[in-house]
Amino acid sequence: MRISTPAVLVGGIKIGGKNPIVIQSMTNTDTSDAKTTAKQAMELAEAGSEIVRMTVNTNLAAPKVPEIRKILDDKGYKALPLIGDFHFNGHTLLKDFPKMAKTLDKYRINPGNVGYGDKHEYNFSTIIKIALENNKPVRIGVNWGSLDQDLLTEMMNKNARLIKPRSDKEVIIDAMVESATRSAEIAEKLGLAQDKIILSVKMSIVQDMIKAYELLSARMQKNKHLYALHLGLTEAGVGMQGLVSSSAALAILLQQGIGDTIRISLTPTPTQPRTKEVEACKTLLQSLGFRYFKPQVTSCPGCGRTDSHFFQELAEEVNAHVTKILPIWQKKYPKSAQKIAELKIAVMGCVVNGPGESKHADIAISLPGRMEKPVAPVYIKGKFVKSLQGKKIPQQFIQLLEDYIEDNFS
Ligand code: SF4
Repeated sequence: MRISTPAVLVGGIKIGGKNPIVIQSMTNTDTSDAKTTAKQAMELAEAGSEIVRMTVNTNLAAPKVPEIRKILDDKGYKALPLIGDFHFNGHTLLKDFPKMAKTLDKYRINPGNVGYGDKHEYNFSTIIKIALENNKPVRIGVNWGSLDQDLLTEMMNKNARLIKPRSDKEVIIDAMVESATRSAEIAEKLGLAQDKIILSVKMSIVQDMIKAYELLSARMQKNKHLYALHLGLTEAGVGMQGLVSSSAALAILLQQGIGDTIRISLTPTPTQPRTKEVEACKTLLQSLGFRYFKPQVTSCPGCGRTDSHFFQELAEEVNAHVTKILPIWQKKYPKSAQKIAELKIAVMGCVVNGPGESKHADIAISLPGRMEKPVAPVYIKGKFVKSLQGKKIPQQFIQLLEDYIEDNFS
């Protein structure tokens, strides 16, 4: 059961409350290059990112934000909220570039990167005051790579005085939660409403990150004072490692009802599109059954029982067809777009699990395994409809799929 946090309006997107878990991403272009940044923001939006964050780090980047907004608006992306990511000089940039402050839909502040000592309070409150003047929400994003050192030292010293001191790691996790909570309290004292604040406590080790969010959520619930939460495993890593680590961390929290918006922070390889992180978020939410974006093609891993090439090619062909044709189906049958996204297709390798799995799918095919009769039974809504055979099985099955869509959704 999802923990009901106050809904925060970011541009036109609601984060928290009973609203669907929102997918966000971040550009990795130089923000001072407005055209390239706008292009990547559009690519991320096309892939399914509902909010796009960009770094606003210099006097050259800040004035480009309104320009990026204009390009997006002109190209039909008016509804895409833009978030400014600030570190070290956010208070100055937001003050010096009021048009940028007005243009952004949310500010992300890292309480560990707003200066030390007296400057910390002044810089942090300056950003909050500008958010108030512009009626903008903020995300207070604590990151263990830049945890507030004054606070950490204070908590470490306190811990050292205990008869049984806790481990450094436990104190660091507590300091993450404390930093987020204290910063949110200060922001509220300055006048920022609870439904204008989103919190995050990102760490790069899966178990630590889970613990930090669990503690933060438990504390908010105990105090009966909740904030919407942004989930992310920071510095998740390259390729498979980043995907699996992020999915593991986020899934465990989401399953507990913790989290209102997610980002999967992958380090892209030079040849990988930035949009991979958005695809990963969609796949994760769909795997958990929280949101549906495209028909699910269930396929078995294959084994010695099946002709692996033919089976793998069929599974891939069906997947590729669905990905390509989905926008056309959804345009053609707009009232059924969500139902189409929830469709279940199964491509199975043999009679062991094929017929059984087929019964749970909307449309399914079970290929013949080695030594089995060379026919591929097709099931629709769990009922056998016909058997296919020969080299044209992929085309015939795809045609049956097209017929199914037409029959059920037109
Ligand atoms: S369904 Fe058949 S081919 Fe697929 S993994 Fe199971 S036994 Fe192997």
